[in-house]
Amino acid sequence: MASNYKSIIENGYNLAKSLKDEGKIATYIPELANVDPSMFGVHMTKNDGTDFGIGNYKEKFSIQSIAKVLSLTLAIKTIGEKVWNRIDVEPSGTKFDSLLLLESYKGIPRNPFINSGAIVICDILITHLDNAPKDFLAFVRNLSDLPTLSYSDKIADSEKATGYRNVALCNFIKSFGNIKNDPAVVLDFYFDMCSLEMNCQQLSYTFSFLANGGRKLSNGEKIITNSQSKRINALMLTCGFYDESGEFAFKVGLPGKSGVGGGIVALYPHNYTIAVWSPKLNPNGNSFRGMKLLEEVTTHSELSIF
Ligand code: GLN
Repeated sequence: MASNYKSIIENGYNLAKSLKDEGKIATYIPELANVDPSMFGVHMTKNDGTDFGIGNYKEKFSIQSIAKVLSLTLAIKTIGEKVWNRIDVEPSGTKFDSLLLLESYKGIPRNPFINSGAIVICDILITHLDNAPKDFLAFVRNLSDLPTLSYSDKIADSEKATGYRNVALCNFIKSFGNIKNDPAVVLDFYFDMCSLEMNCQQLSYTFSFLANGGRKLSNGEKIITNSQSKRINALMLTCGFYDESGEFAFKVGLPGKSGVGGGIVALYPHNYTIAVWSPKLNPNGNSFRGMKLLEEVTTHSELSIF
C-alpha cells in the first residue's frame, strides 16, 4: 500500500463513524451487553513493520469467534490434514450457531468457523494436547507476544450460564460420534477460547502471521507452513462471515473473520493485517461499522486480493 494508507484508513473511519449505525449490540451473552456501543477503533499492522491506529484501538474487547481461526491454526499444526476427516471446508450459508445442516451431514460441520465446527476443533485439541485450555493459551500468548494474556472468566462464565444453543450443538454432534470427549469439557474449553480479549492493535499483530506465509512478523518463527496459511486464508474468505461471507468478499475482498463482540480482522497476504472493532452488529452478526470501514479501505487503497 502506498504511503497514503493512513489517510485512507482515517477517511474510512470518519465515513463509517458518520453513518447512522443500524446495528445492534449482541446481548445473548449477557456480559457483552455491558459494552459501550459507541466504541470504534481500527489498527493496521503492515508486514514492513509500520503500523497505524485510530479511535479506540487500544481498548480491549471480546474477540469471540475470531479466536476460532487461532484454534484451527493450532489444530492444523498439531494433526495436519486429519482435521478434514472431522470437518468440511464449505461455506454453510447459515447463521453461526445453526443446527440445521448437521442432520443432513451426519454431524460433520460444514466448516471450522461456524460454532459446530469450532466445537469439533476444541474436541480435537482436547484429544491431542496435554491440557488444551492451557496449551492453546500458551500458543496465543506466543503468537501475540502477550505473555500475560488470559481468558476472561467474566465473559466465559456469562456464556457458560446461557449458552444453551452451543450445548445443543455439542450434544447433537456427539450423537453422531464426532465429539470424542465429554461434551461438558469440550464446551468449557470452547467458551474459554471465545472469551479472549484483545485490542485492535494486538489483534492485527496476532493475525499478521497469516499475511506472512505462516511466520511471525517479529522474529520469523514458523507457526505453520505457507500452504497451511494459504488454506486458512481461503477458509476465512469463504466462511469467515457466516452467511455474509459472499458479501464480505464482494464488498471488501479480503480473507477475514468476525466475532459477536463486534471485532473483525482481515488481511492482505504479504502486505497488511487490519483489525476493526465496533460492537453494534448487522442482522448477520457482523460489525456494521467495521464492514463499512473495511469496504472503504480496500476500495480506496485498491488493495484487495481481487
Ligand atoms: N461465543 C460465541 C457463541 O458461541 C461466538 C459466536 C460469534 O462470535 N459469532 O455464540
